[in-house]
Amino acid sequence: MTNIEAAPAPDFDTVVIGAGFAGLYSIYKLRSLGFTFRVFERGDDVGGTWYWNRYPGARCDSESVEYSFSFSEEVQQEWTWSERYSGQPEILRYINHVADRFDLRREIQFNTTVTSAKYDEAKNCWEVRTDKGDEVTARFLITATGCLSVPQIPDYRGLSDFKGQKYHTGNWPKEGVDLKGKRVAVMGTGSTGIQAITAIAKEAGHLVVLQRTPNFSLPAQNALLKPEEIREVKATYAAIRKRARMSASGNVYLGDSMGKTSALDASPEEREREFERRWQIGGARLVVAYKDIGTDETANGTAAEFVRKKIRQIVKDPKVAESLCPTTYPIGAKRICLDSGYFETFNRDNVTLVDLKKTPIMEFTPTGFLTTEGEFQLDCVVFATGFDAITGPLLAMGIMGAGGRKLSEKWQAGPRTYLGLITAGFPNLFMITGPGSPGVLSTVTCSIEQHVEWIADCLTYMRDRGYTTIDTDLQTEDAWVNHVNDLADATLHVKANSWYLGANVPGKPRVFMPYIGGVGAYRKECEEIVADSYRGFNFASQGKSKTASAGTS
Ligand SMILES: Cc1cc2nc3c(=O)[nH]c(=O)nc-3n(C[C@H](O)[C@H](O)[C@H](O)COP(=O)(O)OP(=O)(O)OC[C@H]3O[C@@H](n4cnc5c(N)ncnc54)[C@H](O)[C@@H]3O)c2cc1C
Repeated sequence: MTNIEAAPAPDFDTVVIGAGFAGLYSIYKLRSLGFTFRVFERGDDVGGTWYWNRYPGARCDSESVEYSFSFSEEVQQEWTWSERYSGQPEILRYINHVADRFDLRREIQFNTTVTSAKYDEAKNCWEVRTDKGDEVTARFLITATGCLSVPQIPDYRGLSDFKGQKYHTGNWPKEGVDLKGKRVAVMGTGSTGIQAITAIAKEAGHLVVLQRTPNFSLPAQNALLKPEEIREVKATYAAIRKRARMSASGNVYLGDSMGKTSALDASPEEREREFERRWQIGGARLVVAYKDIGTDETANGTAAEFVRKKIRQIVKDPKVAESLCPTTYPIGAKRICLDSGYFETFNRDNVTLVDLKKTPIMEFTPTGFLTTEGEFQLDCVVFATGFDAITGPLLAMGIMGAGGRKLSEKWQAGPRTYLGLITAGFPNLFMITGPGSPGVLSTVTCSIEQHVEWIADCLTYMRDRGYTTIDTDLQTEDAWVNHVNDLADATLHVKANSWYLGANVPGKPRVFMPYIGGVGAYRKECEEIVADSYRGFNFASQGKSKTASAGTS
């Protein structure tokens, strides 16, 4: 038995990694509760996703009034979003505003990457090391490292020989990139690619779009917010947030749009009218027009065909239109994209689509790339090729739990957690929006707030009772993982090669990572577990363990 009491106190109660939405709210919460902490952030300022993703066209695809913090009524009253879907500069300004207003930068050490985090059993603390030579200890470790913060660039032969400019959208230079008149290629046509392509086409001399898989994209119908819309939201903000917290995807706009009937009960004409109505309103409403679009392939097919018909109507060249039509997976099974004129972009004279399924890249050359059909000369290539999502940032940190076990070993066949918050054998490690929680399937700010609040309450609970260790057991964890898998298996989400499944990273285990049961259902589950004396969590103090479910409250 180790003697934790005899061990020196750690430097901090908590180390937090990351200073995006999740890290900033953690600072606010931990400080208000009197915990000591240090925050490490790789970037040189706050913002996370919105610090790194400065590519042309970058904007949110959740409605701005909901894609923001709800914890401060003052902030939500004083901040006014200009657009329905705000651009990256405005979102970054908002995050900076929050950081300034609550003086959140004080404890953040910027330009610092956490390179290892090791749980020391004898001292019951985490030893955290950084690339700047820091070595600090903390009782708890909170990862606020985001789900989309490790950019992925595919490994093409000759890429290192390419002499032009190379960028990944998730690591875009702060000073911007002048693409005016240049020969540019953008690889990737997911949410980011679609935004970047639409914007870059207007600037570049010639744009080559390198499409690996066509995606379903719906018009955002983005617009400036009218003063009366803003007034109405602000007058009812608290109520909107309350409903969002119990909704399916952490926002009211989509929650209120959920169809309650089957697509198959509607006549083709009725369906057409309903899909058209939702297409015109914009956003992701079309994919929730009927209750079974996400679960029934025939119902799903009606929505998918509607979008394909739209693509064929918009894109003038029938061959290009066919290449842009997704046909191999259900609509909504991959993250639905929202655009502002994406398909119209292919009617421009300066845009060429290269369908990599038909004409794969053989290699990059010093001046461009070579496909099975010929050579393309380029000044610049932009990779909008996504991220090692959800687990990537966690596995990149060299996390080692009890007994020196590596997280990468434990998760070799896919991530395993309880509630996406904790993983057995890694005591006192909390993950914000970890695998097994709704995270990326929700308006992420809503999920972040819930996790931060849950963790803060748990730390307070432990402090009040003198507990110094929290963990879970494999049985509890297995039951949660099975539950998450069962929920996903009942949907069409598992039918697409998406990043939710890790399919975009060669060699990554194919496991559906997020919890798909809905933000409200998940929150309820978390609350019930707490009410049931933190069912499934094991607490210990001074080397003595207590199973929470055995009644420790
Ligand atoms: C282009 C784009 C658009 C998006 N749009 C939406 C949207 O409309 N709606 C929505 O809900 N979500 C959206 N998302 C998801 C978005 O990531 C989340 O909404 C949210 O910003 C995540 O916040 P976070 O604080 O959890 O993580 P992040 O914002 O990713 O912040 C994590 C931080 O951790 C830092 N970090 C990571 N590893 C280390 C380390 N080892 N050491 C030190 N620092 C580290 C990173 O530098 C980063 O700053 C989008 C994502 C992208 C990429």
